[in-house]
Amino acid sequence: MAAKNTTRHPCPNCGSSNSKRIGNSWSGGLVGSVLLHECKCKDCKTDFNGKTGLEITLKERMMVIGKIFGVLTLAALAAMVAVNIYEFFL
Ligand SMILES: [Zn+2]
Repeated sequence: MAAKNTTRHPCPNCGSSNSKRIGNSWSGGLVGSVLLHECKCKDCKTDFNGKTGLEITLKERMMVIGKIFGVLTLAALAAMVAVNIYEFFL
């Protein structure tokens, strides 16, 4: 768990650098948290993006989750089409 090379922004709310990365949190979804580089300020409990240093809004969270579901839906459709084509040529 050596993450010394990652530059982490201070908390956008209180300016504290006392934050931790929460890639394994269930708030807003596991994958969403990872994609948002989600960090949590230990002082004021603000969730923010460790890469941009901006507070993570509910809208941002929903957009990431929406994108993930969009990709999953497309993948499922592609798989269904592939199976149909495969069966057609059998
Ligand atoms: Zn803070």
